Formats: sequence, structure tokens, C-alpha cells
Amino acid sequence: MFIDFRSDTVTMPTKEMKESVFTAKLGDDVYEEDETTKELQKLASEVTGKEDSIFVPSGVMGNQLCVMSHTTSGNEVILGEMSHIIDNEAGASAFLSRVTLRTVLNNDFTVYDKDIIRLMRPKNNIQKPNTSLVCLENATAMGNVIPLNIMANSFNTAKSLGLSVHLDGARIFNASTYLGVGVKDICKYTDSVMFCLSKGLCAPMGSMVCGTKEFIKKVRQNRKLLGGGQRQLGFVTNAGIIAIEQMSKRLFKDHENAQFLAKTLNDIDGITCDIEKVHINIVFCKFNMTKFNIEKMSTLLKENNIKISYPDKSGECRFVTHNDIKVKDCELLIDIIKSCKI
Ligand SMILES: *Cc1c(COP(=O)(O)O)cnc(C)c1O
Repeated sequence: MFIDFRSDTVTMPTKEMKESVFTAKLGDDVYEEDETTKELQKLASEVTGKEDSIFVPSGVMGNQLCVMSHTTSGNEVILGEMSHIIDNEAGASAFLSRVTLRTVLNNDFTVYDKDIIRLMRPKNNIQKPNTSLVCLENATAMGNVIPLNIMANSFNTAKSLGLSVHLDGARIFNASTYLGVGVKDICKYTDSVMFCLSKGLCAPMGSMVCGTKEFIKKVRQNRKLLGGGQRQLGFVTNAGIIAIEQMSKRLFKDHENAQFLAKTLNDIDGITCDIEKVHINIVFCKFNMTKFNIEKMSTLLKENNIKISYPDKSGECRFVTHNDIKVKDCELLIDIIKSCKI
């Protein structure tokens, strides 16, 4: 086993998840006859406070299905410049939904109400595309959590302009843990939401898309269109139930470990970390590259079975904590980094 700080996507399914395979109530999910999957979808609807939900193989497919189902081709979507939908989904919105993406450039990667008002295209102008959707993120891919009042303002503004709102909530359980509110309280400010089961929640695969009954029906057809209709899904959706019911409740531990890492890294001469910006399980820091022997670091980390994303040329570096990382693993990492000071 590696101690892997690269991402929370590396989490292994828990023992209970593996055992749950044997008790899954299976059926063909394209016929909507997989009882375990139906149970997971019911649970996801309850947790998000939405009418209906659907299991999708990945978060990217979930986001793109929402873009596709909220828009018609030629529409325009307003979203943050660094949002996962534009930055990490291979240009899928242009390819699959044939929409244009209008980006908001804010230091904190948030789409504010004023951005929506500024970027919304005028109606009845044949030279302009029709704006139809705003995509928000919480937590953001950078690990920031957006306060609820800001989300509420953006949502209310979008609705008053007749726009739909989608929330990329890949790590929404981390956001809810940080804010100390229910996932439902966050989802009040969006029409649809995608969240991942396969990151900090440890399920081996899958994400949920939640929204109105009518919207999920559309998503179900589009999921089929993309080849995402699946059969005896209970084998993996049972893990999704455990992810929501149990694993969401321990995320605060990952946040504590991230705080520990951030503070300890920041105390090392030659590393800076903006602790205020560490909200969830993601730590960004900056190495002064002239002060560390990266080659030695790489050798020592390998010897100790530790994997990290190495600092880029500018020294920017990201560490992610999760279920398979303990406090002593963080301490070992810190000791090795310290020993590589020049
Ligand atoms: C990981 C992630 C996704 C996509 O999830 P995959 O399951 O990797 O496809 C979407 N949005 C954000 C913010 C993410 O962090």
C-alpha cells in the first residue's frame, strides 16, 4: 500500500463496501429494476432535498449530462474560469452540447451575482447567443468553500433572469462539513447538483446527479445516449450507500489532517501555505525551489512508499488528505520534506 497524497480519488473501497457486493439486490438498471441502485437514488434525493436522482459512472459525465440537459445547442453558459467543467473535462461541453462557455475571472473562482448580471446576454438580440445556464462549484476544485449567502445571491439572480443553475458539488460533503450545514442547505441554491461518491467518500466509482423529476428523466435519456446505461449496478451502488451514510461523517478528520499539514508546512523555512484558504482536505503550498533538494526528496519518498504531486517549476504544490492517510503519515511526509532542506 502506498501513502498517496496526490488526490482523494485514490481512496480504496472500505471492507464494508467490498462485502456489500454479496448483499446487493441486483436487477437491470436500464429497466430501472436494480433495487440497490434505486435505494441509493432515493437516499441521494433525500440528502440533497431534490425530487429525483440518478447514478452516473463519473463526475465528468454527471456535469456534462447536466450541461446537456439544461441547454440547447448554441446556448451560452456562465461559469468560473478555473471550474472543473471548463478546465478538466476535455472540452466536452463544446463537443457534446455545442454550447459556448462564458468565463468569469475571479481570484477566488466564484461566480458572483454581479458577474451573472454583467455576462448575461441581452435577450432579443439576433447577434448574441442565448444565455441559459450558470454553473457554480462548491467546494471549488481548488478546495475553497463558498459561503451560502454568496451562493444564494448568485442563485436568486440567475433565477430572476430566467436562467438554470447547476452545481458541481464533486466534494459537496466536504463543503457541508466545513460550513456545518446539511448538503440539503447548500442544494437549496441550485436546480441540479452533481456529487462524487468516488473521492473522499471512498466508493470505487460513480457520482450522483440530482434535480427535479422532469430533469432527471431528461438526464436518464441523455445518459443512455452517451452509452451510460448500466445493468446490474448494485455491485457498485451499494458502496455508494455506505459512502453517503457512513463515510461522509468522517470527513472532518481529513480536514483536521489538512490543517495539520498546512500549519506544519508553513512553519518550514522555504515553504509558504495560505492556511486561511485551506477549507477542506486540499492543501496548496509554495516551495522556494532553491531551498530544497527535490531529487533527494523523490528518492526518500519512494523508499517510504509515499506518492505526492511534486512542486511545478514555480514551486506550487498540492497535497490531499483522505481516509487512507493517518496523522502519522502526515508526520512522516513532513520529516522527509524537512530533511531535504539545502
Ligand atoms: C473530480 C471532480 C469532478 C469530476 O469527477 P470524476 O469522477 O473524476 O469524473 C468534477 N468536478 C470537480 C470539482 C472535481 O473535483
